[in-house]
Amino acid sequence: MEKLIFEKSQPGRRAILLPPLDVPESKHAIPAQFLRKEPPRLPEVSELEVLRHFVNLSHLNHCIDKGFYPLGSCTMKYNPKVNDAVAALEGMRELHPLQPVEQVQGALELIYTLQGYISEIVGLPAVTLQPAAGAHGEMTGLLLIKAYFKAKGDLKRKKVIVPDTAHGTNPATAAMCGFEVVEIKSNSRGLVDLDALKEAVGPDTAAIMLTNPNTLGLFEEEIQKVQKVVHEAGGLLYYDGANLNAIMGLVRPGDMGFDVVHLNLHKTFSTPHGGGGPGGCAVGCRETLAPFLPKPLVVKTIDGYRFDWDRPQSIGKVKGFYGNFGILVRAYAYILAHGKEGLCQVSRDAILSANYLRNRLSRHFTVPHKQPCMHEFVLSGNLQKARGVSTANIAKRLLDFGVMAPTVYFPLVVPEALMIEPTETETRETLNQFAQIMVTIDEESKNSPDTVRNAPHTTPVRKLDEAAAARKPDLRWQPPS
Ligand SMILES: *Cc1c(COP(=O)(O)O)cnc(C)c1O
Repeated sequence: MEKLIFEKSQPGRRAILLPPLDVPESKHAIPAQFLRKEPPRLPEVSELEVLRHFVNLSHLNHCIDKGFYPLGSCTMKYNPKVNDAVAALEGMRELHPLQPVEQVQGALELIYTLQGYISEIVGLPAVTLQPAAGAHGEMTGLLLIKAYFKAKGDLKRKKVIVPDTAHGTNPATAAMCGFEVVEIKSNSRGLVDLDALKEAVGPDTAAIMLTNPNTLGLFEEEIQKVQKVVHEAGGLLYYDGANLNAIMGLVRPGDMGFDVVHLNLHKTFSTPHGGGGPGGCAVGCRETLAPFLPKPLVVKTIDGYRFDWDRPQSIGKVKGFYGNFGILVRAYAYILAHGKEGLCQVSRDAILSANYLRNRLSRHFTVPHKQPCMHEFVLSGNLQKARGVSTANIAKRLLDFGVMAPTVYFPLVVPEALMIEPTETETRETLNQFAQIMVTIDEESKNSPDTVRNAPHTTPVRKLDEAAAARKPDLRWQPPS
């Protein structure tokens, strides 16, 4: 296959033909000692061949535009193309971050207004849009908490509590910010165990990092008690709002008692992700933490919008310039297009899709937690495993049917976990098709387990040698010598 795809070069073939130089050569040309001795060995191909090469390569990948993508906790939903179009408008796209503020009043107004929308959505008064992605927002949030305690002279708060269901970035961020991570076990219902929490909190607690619903897709019903325990111990509550489509418009982290929150704009607020493109993040906090927010902040004055650098207690900058502007434009357009009611409906639909699918699959797969789920749910493949078909095998087999596999083996508290997030943008027909595929694979695990074990069968490459890929990565095409 590699030969077919990559070896297109024919001597002398060209994609672009430029006329001979008819102006004097530049005096600033590259000095002779830096010039190549020989021309680079680039593929020699026509324009059409280049085009076909990349289009065909793109078709080998799975993407949301091609098929269902229920990758739990990643919110791989459809992002309306109109928001990409808005971000690509010349007035947005051609802005330069060093332009004087008088020339970019519209952009600053957009940022300022978006800060206000996010503040309303999360129920916290102060917002920055500077961080570039979710984990970056977590870091920003924990640095706020650290600066807050430092300013109070409360230097003994060195611990951050994280439940065993937490997204991996939470403990990683806490450790990176110099905190000690204390893990607490979930109870049998998959929720924060209040007794374990009471045991863990104390005068050394800086914060607890939670997401609600948690990564099992379950709503922490006792969140009011959780916040009381933590606040009474003098600690703060950090809300991981990466997947806000579970609660947007229905309940607000600020009202649940959280002090700091981050949102992944590229999960909930309409930025395509998963292909390594830029992300965007909002971090919101209470008034008491606002002085520590990264600088600059976009503020509104009688003379218009400007950057406020005069923030002596700020943790400083966390990113060059002010966030990823194109992502902020998409989030702004998405929120405007939906309005208050529309955003509520997004969450209701995300919850409905997940519960519908969960119920359909519960006859064939183990559902470890009995209460209804929010925007996603976790199944165990333990029944199939007992037949010799692992969750990894099921994930690979799904690829044969043209759908992306769910997140697997996470959260760690569920054996053979399959974490499924259908999102609000899929039709009932697609959900039914997916359910049917899962049932088919369950049948295969009984009748022809090798079909599942040896999957995938129809993808451009078969099962990869993951150990070799990690140890001897082959990352670059090289011309045949
Ligand atoms: C995706 C996700 C993150 C990390 O977000 P990035 O933008 O990938 O850094 C953090 N927490 C949860 C719950 C997530 O789903």
